[in-house]
Amino acid sequence: MADCIFCEIAAGNVPSRTVYEDDHVRAFHDLNPVAPVHVLLIPKAHVSGVSALSDDHVDTMGRLLVAARTVARELDIEDSGYRLVINDGRDACQTVFHLHLHLLGGRNMPWPPYA
Ligand code: 5GP
Ligand code: ZN
Repeated sequence: MADCIFCEIAAGNVPSRTVYEDDHVRAFHDLNPVAPVHVLLIPKAHVSGVSALSDDHVDTMGRLLVAARTVARELDIEDSGYRLVINDGRDACQTVFHLHLHLLGGRNMPWPPYA
């Protein structure tokens, strides 16, 4: 999907500060971080969000989670802890419609995350 910015990042056509890559997943620093560590993990194959997932994506979603664990370990936030977030749709304020997992850490993050 040529008009999808994350497809372009996944393919390496648009530069990103990549911290992890394999055949299925790319992980890169968010352009506007909201925590000292704010990494986005995306499947290389386009899917718009959680609501568009099917059984075909089971393997990819597992890989995404394991990659998040690997990145957390490499960026040294495994002991301090971290949060994984996927925004889906309007009420969750999803802005990029290529599924992405936010990996957030490096500071205390209150729960629940809303006022
Ligand atoms: P969403 O609200 O859809 O869950 O989050 C989209 C995230 O993508 C935001 O945190 C935003 O800062 C990030 N983002 C949007 N465009 C780009 C980009 O071109 N490069 C990078 N690295 N991050 C982006
Ligand atoms: Zn895409």
